[in-house]
Amino acid sequence: MNGYARVGDGDEEDTVRSTPLPASLLAPGASLERLATGAEWSEGPVWLPHTKRVRWSDIPNDRILEWDEATGELSVFRTRAEFPNGRALDLEGRVVQCSHGRRAIEREAADGPLVLTDRWEGGRYNSPNDVTVAPDGSLWFTDPPYGLHPSGREGRPGVQEYGGCFVFRWDPATREARPVITDLVHPNGIAFSPDGLRLYVSDTGFYGDRPDARHIQVYPVDGVRTGPGSYFAAPPVGASDGLTVDREGRVWTSAGDGVYVYEPDATLVGHLPVPERVSNVTFGGRNGDELFITASTSLYRIRTTTASPRR
Ligand code: MG
Repeated sequence: MNGYARVGDGDEEDTVRSTPLPASLLAPGASLERLATGAEWSEGPVWLPHTKRVRWSDIPNDRILEWDEATGELSVFRTRAEFPNGRALDLEGRVVQCSHGRRAIEREAADGPLVLTDRWEGGRYNSPNDVTVAPDGSLWFTDPPYGLHPSGREGRPGVQEYGGCFVFRWDPATREARPVITDLVHPNGIAFSPDGLRLYVSDTGFYGDRPDARHIQVYPVDGVRTGPGSYFAAPPVGASDGLTVDREGRVWTSAGDGVYVYEPDATLVGHLPVPERVSNVTFGGRNGDELFITASTSLYRIRTTTASPRR
């Protein structure tokens, strides 16, 4: 994620025409619904099955929001949250999330967030951005520098300490993290294929000084490590900030003008227009078949015919 508007992000482009999502992927009569609004920059949605709520981050306002499926109400879960960004459920159903402010991966506990890891070989992380859970329960997370920006809009101003922007794997057994991807400029969104054998990571290095880094890279995964990555796809407008994978292995990615869906072989399936700039997407709902979309000020939903791989 990165909420800073920049010339060239593509938000101003309105001439790109893409194939709409096929009707077969959407539930009968489905349309895009705006569920809640009033945030400044929304990120990190996760469906909470026990409370039937969607939790997400409003990063510049340093708070965590929730939308309640039963009542449709928006509530504030936490203020002074230390600028959390992406989040996921671990294999035990607990919320794990990235904290820009604490430069850490943390897990929600009864009395608040518990830091799981905040450094590698003596240097603190930059500002963990998005996290996903491997089939073995390990946490894989991206670590671009956006939360260190001097403006303090999305974190605590600071400097990079370990000299890179890596993807890390944190092992809950050893409680240690180690780099698994070191060849991206600003790794951002992250998701596994349903079988856990492929890892998709978006690179938004073009927010910095690398216009070539504006795509999704795919890596083969061999247990605790990855093989050489290769170019997968890039949405035509804006960037892939966050992404998710459905049970058939399709990749659903955010973009400047909505959500783009790709087959596992990178063929474009179609485009879902969203009237705000999209940051992240996740499947949830009672049957796992609702796509929740964080986009700038709002949370959106569309009902689909596919679902999260984790059921
Ligand atoms: Mg992100």
